[in-house]
Amino acid sequence: MVGAAPVEVLRRLFGYDTFRNQQAEIIDRLVSGGDALVLMPTGGGKSLCYQIPAIVRPGVGVVISPLIALMQDQVDALRALGVRAGFINSTQEWSERREMEAAFTSGDLDLLYLAPEALGSPNTMRLLERGRIALFAIDEAHCVAQWGHDFRPDYLGLSVLHERWPDVPRIALTATATTATRDEIATRLNLADAQRFVASFDRPNIQYRIVPKKSPATQLLEFLRTEHKGDAGIVYCLSRASVERTAELLVENGIPALPYHAGLDASTRSANQSRFLREDGLVMVATIAFGMGIDKPDVRFVAHLDLPKSVEGYYQETGRAGRDGLPSTAWLAYGLQDVVQQRKMIETSDADRNRRRALAAHLDAMLALCETVSCRRAQMLAYFGEPGGEPQCGNCDTCLTPPSSFDGTVAAQKLLSAVLRLDRERNQRFGAGQVIDILLGRQTDKVTRFRHDQLTVFGIGTELSESEWRGAVRQLLAQGLLAVEGDYGTLLLTDASRAVLGKERQVMLRRDPPKTPRQSRAATP
Ligand code: ADP
Ligand code: ZN
Repeated sequence: MVGAAPVEVLRRLFGYDTFRNQQAEIIDRLVSGGDALVLMPTGGGKSLCYQIPAIVRPGVGVVISPLIALMQDQVDALRALGVRAGFINSTQEWSERREMEAAFTSGDLDLLYLAPEALGSPNTMRLLERGRIALFAIDEAHCVAQWGHDFRPDYLGLSVLHERWPDVPRIALTATATTATRDEIATRLNLADAQRFVASFDRPNIQYRIVPKKSPATQLLEFLRTEHKGDAGIVYCLSRASVERTAELLVENGIPALPYHAGLDASTRSANQSRFLREDGLVMVATIAFGMGIDKPDVRFVAHLDLPKSVEGYYQETGRAGRDGLPSTAWLAYGLQDVVQQRKMIETSDADRNRRRALAAHLDAMLALCETVSCRRAQMLAYFGEPGGEPQCGNCDTCLTPPSSFDGTVAAQKLLSAVLRLDRERNQRFGAGQVIDILLGRQTDKVTRFRHDQLTVFGIGTELSESEWRGAVRQLLAQGLLAVEGDYGTLLLTDASRAVLGKERQVMLRRDPPKTPRQSRAATP
């Protein structure tokens, strides 16, 4: 349909009446040969923004996508609509590849999907030079940002596209959009002059809830039974082992669940994925390897049993819920151990210093979101550079059951003093558990062995319970008043801690609300 009006293509090929969000403007920009940087949440309708211009402009639209596993599905869906689409990647038969190459050079194709690593190969570059290119679409463009949460080195090579084909319009798309990531995409992909299209990132039908992790298995079962019986949803876990364990747990308890992680062989993964997409009411228990590009409209909940590494990751993963616009829940259970584990992963990662610093900053922002006493949605949108919304969304746990806060300065001083005393014992390092036992005056083996019952801080914190102390440790971490390091999650003071110990700084702490709010689920049976 070269030369057709975009809205005609929308109606005749895709079967939709009107454009959504800024789709019409974005498409016009591309059709007239301009570059665009598109920031739109998951489910916003990004694909049409490059598919329609690729159909309307002469030549083939080349789509760079990291989602090799989904290329076949994407291409099948387009072909079913009558769009001439194909892909070239490492998983494909030689003959199939040959066929695609021929279709590309002869121009018998509207869209060609490529993995980013393909552009590193001289063969692919030579192929691209033999055909006519309508546009380049760079999907999941945040993967180019080293500061971002999902960096893929192959993406850095994409700047070559502009160097070799300066006149071909480019569109970069992502559902991640902190201002820092946005700017980094523009710089690294040479898109400084591209017009930016920024949609609202609010997902009003998703209810955000973050609870302290006590016994995660029981908490998860309770959440599923009381609020999401029979619903399809995703449960994210950090490790493959906990994916396996959790999937078994759900099945044992009568909840149909499937595992998904990179350790499973490709055929099991794709079988589980297609069952999740096609059947009703299945729960996918997965690592974050699962979900990018998955288009299932009726995912009713996304549960996290471990702390996501960044607010961007949390937003993207939870964003897979409720694409159909109906009420859905994003539920996260997190505890101190998560923080210890993730700090350790950052310390031991082989990333360079800048990247490690970025990872630590991402984690801090995520912690701050977990420990906030104000609206989670408002805080998240502000983080994405989208302030000015309602200060109270009315659909997150802190809005529904506002946590009370109290002057925790004295408690914080006690906690920090205990950390300071332990810090003086040079050769030994202690985590939160030991510090809390000391504050509560518990004569455990470890306390007596190290003579910690002799410390002046022993037993000075009986006014708070163990879980309240754990909450205090998490909040001091989130406020930068404590740091954690090493295998055992050793607690350390920070520069800011001194101001608290020196009585120059007040500390407000939140009390965990007595009960979790129930979702009103008027729109679903
Ligand atoms: P994203 O890539 O931003 O996550 P998609 O491009 O997958 O979003 O679109 C999400 C869903 O919305 C898809 O099912 C798509 O067919 C549908 N959609 C996109 N644009 C429109 C439109 N203008 N009218 C109706 N449905 C649309
Ligand atoms: Zn809120």
